[in-house]
Amino acid sequence: MLGRSVFRTIAQSANRTFSAQAAAQGAGLQFDLTDEQKELQETARKFVRDNVIPVAAHHDKTGEYPWEVMKKAHACGLLNTDIPAEYGGLDLSMVENVLIGEAFGYGCTGIGTGVLANDLAETPLILCANDDIKKRYLTRMIEEPIMAAYCVTEPGAGSDVSGGKTKAVKKGDEYIINGTKMWITNGGVASWYFVLARSDPDPKASSGKAFTAFVVDADTPGLTRGKKEINMGQRASDTRMISFEDVRVPAKNVIGAPGEGFKVAMKTFDKTRPIVAALATGLAARALDEAAKYALERKTFGVPIAQHQAVAFMLAEMAMNVELSKLITYRSAWEVDDGRPGSYYASLAKCFAADMANQAATNAVQIFGGNGFNSEYPVEKLMRDAKIFQIYEGTSQIQRMVIARQLLGRVKDVGGYF
Ligand SMILES: Cc1cc2nc3c(=O)[nH]c(=O)nc-3n(C[C@H](O)[C@H](O)[C@H](O)COP(=O)(O)OP(=O)(O)OC[C@H]3O[C@@H](n4cnc5c(N)ncnc54)[C@H](O)[C@@H]3O)c2cc1C
Repeated sequence: MLGRSVFRTIAQSANRTFSAQAAAQGAGLQFDLTDEQKELQETARKFVRDNVIPVAAHHDKTGEYPWEVMKKAHACGLLNTDIPAEYGGLDLSMVENVLIGEAFGYGCTGIGTGVLANDLAETPLILCANDDIKKRYLTRMIEEPIMAAYCVTEPGAGSDVSGGKTKAVKKGDEYIINGTKMWITNGGVASWYFVLARSDPDPKASSGKAFTAFVVDADTPGLTRGKKEINMGQRASDTRMISFEDVRVPAKNVIGAPGEGFKVAMKTFDKTRPIVAALATGLAARALDEAAKYALERKTFGVPIAQHQAVAFMLAEMAMNVELSKLITYRSAWEVDDGRPGSYYASLAKCFAADMANQAATNAVQIFGGNGFNSEYPVEKLMRDAKIFQIYEGTSQIQRMVIARQLLGRVKDVGGYF
């Protein structure tokens, strides 16, 4: 079993940020990881080779939650890596988090999504909660191998988060929550939930003032978990409906200021979309590796199919896009580490890497021919798993809206892209 010590070394290292530090020291643009980051990357890859790849097909087939992987990942420091040191965490940088995400994406994005869902639930607490909530909820994540979930989407409101109808009504020093959340990753296994609810009864209240964010314990009376949803892909991941019927939550569990929950929920994505992009990049790299190996072995017309230009060019295109996905993903993480979090690069990375993962997985199936369509071979799982990257954490259409809005604003303000 790997120890947490390698991660401690990285966390304590003075020179941990992918090129940002070097740039600050006048080194300019460079693409090397630090020695510690290379060690972290290799440690994460080894963990995935030893513990994720061997069980990925089993969890895909059975839909059984990969608890054994989560417990091992927790033991060696690969879960909850963004929690600040004062709450017992390693406080890894975004660049370091995307290196880990990429490794999980290569192994199994279903399992990777379960890992990511913890970050998704923790990030709003890290960014906006008071010290008391952080001590009560983040510290537990380090002490025990438990999971958490982010409850924002509703059956009638996904892309349009402001259309959410789950209500929170204040009574004394409690809020009473009623409503239904949908498609909640880690829904069936979470010990606590980040929950967004409408706290202003005025339907005309602006989103920025109408919602409040809470942390809610899973065993609170009135909170019910639905059945595990049977999804197209990422079947190791656990997705459920979560219902709230007169769920009483103490006012001390409000994250940020009452009424400001929408901003809390949205800010989170600057730090989690780069990790989604990393998972998608890992999947694309896996599709490329599987397809290239197969193309060297499979023969038609007397030669390996890699020697047919049509196949070689498909591989070349996949390689170009894996590199570009990596670059934009690392850039989006670097922006956050450099103190410039913003949705622009996070959306560019999430959208591009999601589209490229789908293209790479489709090409891999094509290169495998009939075998690609069969579950005995690894690439049909990649194709099923890839699709969700264009849907969750904001669909590809929503990412393009974010990008276009900011791009056009910039052109209006300063006259052009440069
Ligand atoms: C497996 C899985 C896991 C998930 N995990 C979580 C989770 O942990 N927590 C959570 O809160 N949510 C989660 N989600 C929900 C996910 O984020 C939403 O499904 C997603 O945001 C899309 O919302 P929707 O399904 O309601 O689609 P809709 O919003 O109904 O969109 C339908 C289609 O219309 C398009 N569309 C919508 N509005 C516009 C527009 N203005 N312009 C152009 N096109 C538009 C969309 O892009 C999409 O193609 C998960 C979903 C799935 C399937």
